[in-house]
Amino acid sequence: MKQRHSTGAPSKLRIDRERLVETAVRLMAIPSPTGQAGAVSDLLAGILREDGFVVERPEGGHPVAPAVAVRFSSGRPGRTLQFDGHLDTVHLPFVAPTVEDGLIRGSGASDMKGGVAAAIEAVRAIRDAGALSAGSILLTAHDLHEAPWGDGRQLDQLIRDGYVGDAVLIPEPMHEPLAVIGRGSATWKVSIRRDGPPVHEVRRPVDQPSVIAAGAALVAQLKTLNDRLSQPADPLCGSASVFIGQFHAGEIYNQFPQDCWLQGTRRWLPGTDCRAVESEFRALLAELARQTQTEIDCDWFLIRDAFRLDQADPFVTAFQSVYRERTGAPLTIGGKMFVDDGNSFWTLAQVPAITHGARSGGAHTIDEWVSIDDLVRVAEVYALTAAAYCPNPA
Ligand SMILES: [Zn+2]
Repeated sequence: MKQRHSTGAPSKLRIDRERLVETAVRLMAIPSPTGQAGAVSDLLAGILREDGFVVERPEGGHPVAPAVAVRFSSGRPGRTLQFDGHLDTVHLPFVAPTVEDGLIRGSGASDMKGGVAAAIEAVRAIRDAGALSAGSILLTAHDLHEAPWGDGRQLDQLIRDGYVGDAVLIPEPMHEPLAVIGRGSATWKVSIRRDGPPVHEVRRPVDQPSVIAAGAALVAQLKTLNDRLSQPADPLCGSASVFIGQFHAGEIYNQFPQDCWLQGTRRWLPGTDCRAVESEFRALLAELARQTQTEIDCDWFLIRDAFRLDQADPFVTAFQSVYRERTGAPLTIGGKMFVDDGNSFWTLAQVPAITHGARSGGAHTIDEWVSIDDLVRVAEVYALTAAAYCPNPA
């Protein structure tokens, strides 16, 4: 691809594979479990400064690990394309990076220091080639992504503080499909209690409610709710749902239990008010507590609200035409199985977000890997999407 540098010198976009791998390995060499990404954020800031970029360190409400932000501008008005990634990893034993047989292995290879390195390489390549004729790129990297240790609040604050582009590319470990719809999700934990101390079952007071019976009633009611939620179903991302993953009660077989608790998820389709979803759930519990004469508490933890992407948005058409040119066909359209930071950009800023990363595996395990060839491809797709999208008026 021929582009004109601002000085008028023609230049060609070139992804530097060695430099990309070196950056990924340097980021991966520093352990950064969620909440503790301070050291790797400092390292990234240093790498970008060495590269000659002006680096900002917005705290986003998490001063132990300020985020990293770079605004690379062409100097001419246009759109801003954001590349956003998280530097934290799930809380599993640290695996140091290794490079072998075309793969990078180790903690964060797939999720998602490899992807962050590809995004950085895209910005470098576009700068080196002078390939951005107008507009700008905003690169952001942050902590507090992975649940349950993080809840996305640092990114939410960054978005509120203006660290947001006109569109966002997120190099998470999903290389297909192109997700255009996704459900919002929350986790819940319900605790059901009765009055009185633990007691042998033969001595239990006759007027005491059974917390297990109340728990069973809740299971039945949530089944009814889930049946009702199963329609309508979206062809790409399925239906709203309520799911129970755990049910616990009692200590031994002949003690009358005091507590019963259940834990699960609730998911909903775009267009649903997430506060109404929570109120409906709490109202069901209040009614059950009244009927069963138990005390019921609920912890409700919003993970992310629902997600939508307009396929006609110029950002999506720019991405798809670059993707088609690189691979021969546009990326298949699909639903988003899990929530990610794209949901936050859509919910908080109504900004279109595409999650697209390299071929990789082992995310959330101790056996993570990512394909180096595909990281190079992702860097190229990111750079070319910026070159196509940013020059037009915002
Ligand atoms: Zn991730």
